[in-house]
Amino acid sequence: MTSGIKVIAPATISNLACGFDTLGLALDLPCDEIIGRWVDSPGVHIIEISGEKKNIPYHVDTNTAGIAATALLSHMGETGRGVELKIRKHIPGGSGLGSSAASACAAAVLVNELLNRPLEKRELIPFALDGELVSSGSRHGDNVVPCMIGGLMLIRDILEYDYHRVYAPSGLFLAVLLPDLVVNTRDSRGLLRQEVSLQDMVKQSANLGALIIGMNTGDLDLIHRSLEDHVIEPQRKHLIPFFDQIKDRALNLGALGCSISGAGPALFALCPEKLLAQNVADAMKQVYEEHHLGARTFVSGINQEGVILK
Ligand code: ADP
Repeated sequence: MTSGIKVIAPATISNLACGFDTLGLALDLPCDEIIGRWVDSPGVHIIEISGEKKNIPYHVDTNTAGIAATALLSHMGETGRGVELKIRKHIPGGSGLGSSAASACAAAVLVNELLNRPLEKRELIPFALDGELVSSGSRHGDNVVPCMIGGLMLIRDILEYDYHRVYAPSGLFLAVLLPDLVVNTRDSRGLLRQEVSLQDMVKQSANLGALIIGMNTGDLDLIHRSLEDHVIEPQRKHLIPFFDQIKDRALNLGALGCSISGAGPALFALCPEKLLAQNVADAMKQVYEEHHLGARTFVSGINQEGVILK
């Protein structure tokens, strides 16, 4: 490819313990990269997928980048020419780190740039959600929205595009452990019970409200008390070997909370500063090393920009 536009889109952590399908935040790293250019042949053509490409389809009707790009081209009435895409995956698929959403967001921003930016970034969210629908089976926006526009976001109703930025205290870092196993979002959603007890509903909504207040006021102790999932984590944690041990180590070291990122298997621990996050990441990995299991770890701040041109 001689010339083209390159965009990068960040990994995201959705749910954030008490905010199932409601909260998500963007990470500084890892980011997916897409390079694209106009070609004569109409439609979208994925000519290369490199990096963390396990099980990622080339077909434009099943690849989330292909779906988002096709939807935007068609919305803009562009039928005369096509777009060629090269996808560099740095966010492993099926990790719970919003890999499929990142590709969809990157593709929507890229096509919008090629079209000379007819739409605002937030207007691209529906096209990225079209991609996410195919990969995860539902149109929840807790990966797509923070990926696209950055920060910590509360999604009140994605069908109405009713979402809100939550202002978080500066200096928060996330320690992330990514075990060497794949959990498919569809499967991980499929095992959830459809009913929640009244008692758990009360605890969960109290935590979600208090977490937002803690973030807004910078009350780290309130964030710590609220970052607890009474509904989803107990049903999913068996998918992640040694979950309880990892969580205990992270909390004992001073993490504000530790839970499953999205549908898993990635785990995150929210930490009040970077050095602590690094120690927590090392301790989480040590649990896996003790059990001779493979995992990677990284530390990231909260990304405030979302998808950017590179
Ligand atoms: P994650 O939470 O890490 O995004 P998902 O399970 O939601 O994981 O998404 C991974 C699924 O999406 C896989 O089945 C994968 O084949 C599919 N998929 C389609 N297109 C892409 C893409 N461009 N990048 C990543 N995954 C994709």
